[in-house]
Amino acid sequence: MDIEIKLGSILELKKGHPCGANRWEIIRFGTDCKIKCLGCGRIVLIDRPTLKKRVKKILEEKSEEHS
Ligand SMILES: [Zn+2]
Repeated sequence: MDIEIKLGSILELKKGHPCGANRWEIIRFGTDCKIKCLGCGRIVLIDRPTLKKRVKKILEEKSEEHS
């Protein structure tokens, strides 16, 4: 399954953050991606192929129409 990741989306990863949360917001999406833990606010740099492999599901998708 190919998961479509968009800037601003909230993701659940296969492995949560050590702080106990498992909700991540995409704050940069390019060759390298930055994801922010919504539990503690920590920002993690991750490359795109690794991120795609680690995504379990998309919790919230950024939408232009429903803001
Ligand atoms: Zn955290």
